Amino acid sequence: MIVTAQTASVHLDLRQDVALLTAALIDINSVSGNEKELADAVEHALRRIPQLDIVRDGDSIIARTALGRQERVILAGHLDTVPLPTTEGSLGTVPSFWPSGAPGEGLLYGRGTTDMKGGVAVQLALAASMFDGGAEPSKDVTFVFYDHEEVEAVKSGLGRLVRNHGGLLDGDFAILLEPTHGTVEGGCNGTMRLAATTVGEAAHSARAWMGSNAIHAAAPILARLAAYEPATVNVDGLDYRESLNAVKINGGTAGNVIPDRCVVEINYRFAPDKTPEQAEAHVRALLEGFDVVKTDSAAGARPGLNHPAAASFVAAVGAEPKPKYGWTDVARFSELGIPAVNFGPGDPLLAHKDNEHVDAEAVRECLRALRTWLG
Ligand SMILES: [Zn+2]
Repeated sequence: MIVTAQTASVHLDLRQDVALLTAALIDINSVSGNEKELADAVEHALRRIPQLDIVRDGDSIIARTALGRQERVILAGHLDTVPLPTTEGSLGTVPSFWPSGAPGEGLLYGRGTTDMKGGVAVQLALAASMFDGGAEPSKDVTFVFYDHEEVEAVKSGLGRLVRNHGGLLDGDFAILLEPTHGTVEGGCNGTMRLAATTVGEAAHSARAWMGSNAIHAAAPILARLAAYEPATVNVDGLDYRESLNAVKINGGTAGNVIPDRCVVEINYRFAPDKTPEQAEAHVRALLEGFDVVKTDSAAGARPGLNHPAAASFVAAVGAEPKPKYGWTDVARFSELGIPAVNFGPGDPLLAHKDNEHVDAEAVRECLRALRTWLG
């Protein structure tokens, strides 16, 4: 764990307009695995706020108020982005771009605008302004900034923080500032990958009757998946739409050989009313008679909107909450017993796209909503 303040880091002005702060964050490249420079800059800026207790772990940072309030809320966001659009794997910086020609006005383009440097900018601006004019927030706040969200779950900075500093992540309610277009998205679907394998017998394709075709044997698997009608499940008042699909198929060795093995990879996105065990049983029942192996799974999260802190937040935002279909880190908070929602600026459908962008006003609006609620 590194606890020393960084001196050589980029200076971030947390008090500038939050849309301009978003651009400043984008200008520091932080593709997964390369978060150090941004983490240094964030840590350095947070250490100037005397009311925050800071802990750094790798390229993750926890910053907490200690006001002794009845409620503690967690505001969390990841510092990393997916690779740059045109220079994949590049360690170069990403200049942000204002097509209006007027920084701070209209749309802001750049890697991470929606996913999720707009959200991180809101967290930082809140941290810097919370105590303005002697004011104090009505709730204790824990800000979490973490690395390695956009890669395999085992690398997750948030997962590491839970293991190393679990106690510092205590809270009554968590908000993940992933892009939601400024609405509250509760919970998330779980996800599971499975492999269904058929086995045949190899033979020369000129004498196919000597063998048995494993690819043909997989046809009923595809037929059952194609005919399957995914459910929509109401959980705590929100409708979660499920998906069950073949996502990859592999079989055959050569153009003149009857294939002796075929593997169909399946992805099941299941509603948060099911445990991963129940979801697995559901797929196994559908594919009865086939050799099915689970290769990976992550539990979903119930929306938890009936919790008082969540309900007051939804009321403050004033928009109808929606279900989240994709898996997000709210599930990690849910595992800790902390109800969690997604709420952040930007269109989630633009995440990871080459033309990723966010409206400056959307970032400001998100900051206003959180400020009002915490006020
Ligand atoms: Zn994200």
